[in-house]
Amino acid sequence: MHEGEIVIKKVQGHVPKSGAPREKPPTKDATITYRLTRDDISGGPVNLDEIEPGLWLGNVTAAADLPTLEKLAIRSVLTIDSCPLPAHVTENPGLRVKYIQASDVPREDLIKHFEDTNNFIRESLEEERNVLVHCYFGVSRSATIVIAYIMNKYKLTYDAALQRVKSKRRFVMPNPGFINQLKLFSIMNYRIDPQNEKYKLFRLKLAADNVRKAKRLPVNCMDVVKPDPAVTQETPEPIVYRCRKCRRVVATKSNLLTHKQKPPGHSPAKHHNSFGDVAGLNDDESDTEQQLSKEDGVAPSGSAEGTAADSAATEEKVSCKESVPSMSHVTEQMRRSSISSDQSQRSSEKDGICSKIYFTEPLAWMTDIFHNTQGRLYCPKCTVKLGSFNWVMATKCPCGAEIYPAFYLVPSKTEYSTVVQNVQVTV
Ligand SMILES: [Zn+2]
Ligand SMILES: [Zn+2]
Repeated sequence: MHEGEIVIKKVQGHVPKSGAPREKPPTKDATITYRLTRDDISGGPVNLDEIEPGLWLGNVTAAADLPTLEKLAIRSVLTIDSCPLPAHVTENPGLRVKYIQASDVPREDLIKHFEDTNNFIRESLEEERNVLVHCYFGVSRSATIVIAYIMNKYKLTYDAALQRVKSKRRFVMPNPGFINQLKLFSIMNYRIDPQNEKYKLFRLKLAADNVRKAKRLPVNCMDVVKPDPAVTQETPEPIVYRCRKCRRVVATKSNLLTHKQKPPGHSPAKHHNSFGDVAGLNDDESDTEQQLSKEDGVAPSGSAEGTAADSAATEEKVSCKESVPSMSHVTEQMRRSSISSDQSQRSSEKDGICSKIYFTEPLAWMTDIFHNTQGRLYCPKCTVKLGSFNWVMATKCPCGAEIYPAFYLVPSKTEYSTVVQNVQVTV
């Protein structure tokens, strides 16, 4: 079959009533292949199930069939599909209709709609309007929306909510990306928490996927780039990372994206798309493309990244020896002591959190990240090289973990500081 070829045959009458239709062919083993076009107006015969009193989950045919809606007193229709319903539904004065455009692909961002769709369902039911949530087949996208509602209503885990929904409609099957989003929703206590590290990683991987395609950071992904921590803020964070050479603040502790130290002897990463693990919920980072970056790009020093990280302690000893007794020496000693009293880092290491390289969120001072897919990160004040970034390939930490996408600062080029100072404004 050629790419883009339309192979949809008549789907009507083809969906088994109790079978397991998929909205998308999941594996080579799938016996039924659907390729749908916008011209298709049917997702098979009317097919819907009542999941909760008044809450129905079904296919597009059910949603477009006014007699069905009328018979079941359905007066709210929530569409999660690539095209909206026909006008006889959307413009029907007796129906409250909500449309979310979404494809059944793992990278589709459904989690951002969960709070909204949960409110739509809850408010409709409170007003005694029966609700139909549907997509094309009522298997993946709309099931995800209904599971998110059930999870929030009963404070259930993904698995428990899935079982509850499956007991009413046994072939529901969210795609792997949606499963991860549902799990992330439960981790965030059934709301979007922009500060949640796993949510940040999820957004970042979505953005990276867009950068792969567009070769630059698209406007609708700009939210992943966080403000420059050196710009004056009302409540500056006490723990910051500075350029070791010029002391400019280059990151705060909350900008760090931590990862677990890879245990020795771990099997190497598989080479495939990361969206089975979009939320970063797995302990290892094996779902990333791998780039065994022995060197940090082509730095003039040619120093290996791992070596750079490991030599941080040595460099510190040397420069302490060279210090001269003066006021600046005292300041230097205070600064060093603030570095060496990095208790949180030590305790992190005990928890298996790696601190060999500081992976961070993308930050506004990293100007090259907006229009390049990979490159080096230079201190915006003194232009010394601080690290690198890569939107499109995974970067291997000296611990062995592979991080994708990656924005990192080399510890030997930066310093951890707990000394609260006025946050410096640097442009
Ligand atoms: Zn600097
Ligand atoms: Zn690591």
